Amino acid sequence: MNCQETRQILDGYFDGELDLVYRLDIDGHLRRCTGCAETLKTYRELRHGIQVGTIYYEAPAELKASIRMSLQDTGKAEVSRRRLNNSGKIQRFAMAASIVAAAIATAIVLTALSGSSATEGIATEVLDAHLRSMMRDHLVDVSSSDQDAVKPWFAGKLDFVPPVRDLTDQGFSLIGGRVEYLNRRPVAALVFRRGQHTINLFVWPASHPDASIHTSTIQGYSLVHCSWLGVTYWAISDLNSGELRELVKYQQK
Ligand SMILES: [Zn+2]
Repeated sequence: MNCQETRQILDGYFDGELDLVYRLDIDGHLRRCTGCAETLKTYRELRHGIQVGTIYYEAPAELKASIRMSLQDTGKAEVSRRRLNNSGKIQRFAMAASIVAAAIATAIVLTALSGSSATEGIATEVLDAHLRSMMRDHLVDVSSSDQDAVKPWFAGKLDFVPPVRDLTDQGFSLIGGRVEYLNRRPVAALVFRRGQHTINLFVWPASHPDASIHTSTIQGYSLVHCSWLGVTYWAISDLNSGELRELVKYQQK
């Protein structure tokens, strides 16, 4: 068995799906070939990482969509191949498994790379959404200062339940909420007032934990964001950033 043949069914070998003859062939190859042995080691490390939860992050929506598409394409290609070749089961499995392995590896790389440039992109979207909400006089779709009225309004409009808190006692009055599309997904926009200042607090499920509070300023607007207990918060306002930080800090209490 050569490297190419080994790689084709290595996923099946790794998952204990192969019969004895194939297994022995691969055992033999792995003893002779450090390259394939390294690949198998990577699979084991990936699986271990996933099992102990150290490297699992939710894949970005775009990545999920592309994986789904490639799996569908694989499915179509396989239907025609099956007509020609009935012994394609292992290959089919190996192909699907390697797509999944590649997707996991890609997700890890993306997560590692998703540093400042992704954050900058979101910051721009947050600013755009804030300015739109102020200009088109469409700040809220549900107008209420009652957190128990605003929270259930999002049910059925989002695939998560946003935490909603009235912080009037802390100087931030809830005035309502609406749904926005940010970071390639629908998110909750909670709107607060502090004096004459309007604050948009955007909320969606976090893709990775980052409890520290980040502050920035774009075009004179303050932006504060953090991820806390599985939820990402982005606040924006013409308030000074110190006061806006207070609002985000209250989400962590
Ligand atoms: Zn090899």
